[in-house]
Amino acid sequence: MLTRTVSYTLIAVVLLLLLFLSPTSSFAQTDATTYTVQPGDTLLLIAERFDVPVDLLARINHIDNPDLIQVGQTLVIPGPEAVDLAQRQEQFREHLSTWLPSVSTAVAGAQVTLYGAFGYGELGGMTRIASQLFVRQQGLPMPFLSVRVPKTLIQGRTGVVQVISMVPIVPTGTFQDRPLVFLGEHNPEAWMYRYQAFVPTGALDQPGVKPLQIKVGSVVYEAPVEILAGTYETQHIVLPPSKGGLLEPEKLQEERARLYAIWSKVTAPPRWTQPFRFPVEGDIPRTSPYGTRRSYNGGPVSSFHAGSDWGAPEGTPILAPAPGVVVLAEPLFVRGGAVIVDHGAGVYSNFWHMSQIDVQVGDEVQTGDLLGLVGTTGLSTGAHLHWEIRVDGIAVDPMQWTSSKLP
Ligand SMILES: [Zn+2]
Repeated sequence: MLTRTVSYTLIAVVLLLLLFLSPTSSFAQTDATTYTVQPGDTLLLIAERFDVPVDLLARINHIDNPDLIQVGQTLVIPGPEAVDLAQRQEQFREHLSTWLPSVSTAVAGAQVTLYGAFGYGELGGMTRIASQLFVRQQGLPMPFLSVRVPKTLIQGRTGVVQVISMVPIVPTGTFQDRPLVFLGEHNPEAWMYRYQAFVPTGALDQPGVKPLQIKVGSVVYEAPVEILAGTYETQHIVLPPSKGGLLEPEKLQEERARLYAIWSKVTAPPRWTQPFRFPVEGDIPRTSPYGTRRSYNGGPVSSFHAGSDWGAPEGTPILAPAPGVVVLAEPLFVRGGAVIVDHGAGVYSNFWHMSQIDVQVGDEVQTGDLLGLVGTTGLSTGAHLHWEIRVDGIAVDPMQWTSSKLP
């Protein structure tokens, strides 16, 4: 047992050396040569001549069928160093699958476990050897390598949870009884799998510390997230009698149900790579920020302003804040002229009260493309831009999305 621990430590040291001495990131050039296939050659004969395992030779040269090599074909022949590393890579694959730690140590005061892995591949026409170190936070249950959870979230803000694993997993999770939707990404160079989920909070979410749960099979990881109160005001809205009819509960309900059906769909992956742009040009004053608590015609505060309102004049062009696909483009009873853009990953931009709609369902839009014009249709008391962002169905503050790139 002691010998095994020592050998893992040694391997980890070798990995560290490789990692820091490599000329290009974690890649190091090997002692490979080439050989031109001669009449009478077989892959096995060539492998024996150069003292290289035949399966390694086949893999490096992308040969699926070892009986199908051709005279004149050029083969890459790995030297002793590459063969040695490839064999250790095989060992490491076993180690990875059985989750054997290389060495346990302290990094920046936190106790972590280091795992090592070798790989080889083609880069710039050369066969190169890659090494990779994994750092695992201690105390995390298998198979989590690292988990990042926001410690605090202000009401209305969108947080991001990140899970990293050395093997493919299917994480699920919940926060405030809402499911977390994880999207995955495999980085073959880093040999790891990264999963991210948004943690959207609404302006009326109760402040306090709440558990965020992540599950992989029967393994559960739980971390506390504190919701902090935002600074949202209360607005008393009086609607003219002509628009009072729009408050009919069944009509509100019907429209809501339709919109929630749209917002509940998660079409992976995210289509944006930058912070969102502001949807109108020029210096436009904000007339009602996101999150304002609302009471209509003296009623109780039961809702909040789901979007951000800007006093743009009637007819101002509304531009797509990020790439996406138009999933709704029609007049709605309560929200008036409406356009919804699906940005992927469960994130939707919504524009209401428009005077004109210039897109159709199914249109692919790029950042800055014209969606339509500002108006005052539906439940509205004057021309304005209403921009609303829904993440997994929750209305979040759009301004966070223009100032930072999420996730
Ligand atoms: Zn609004």
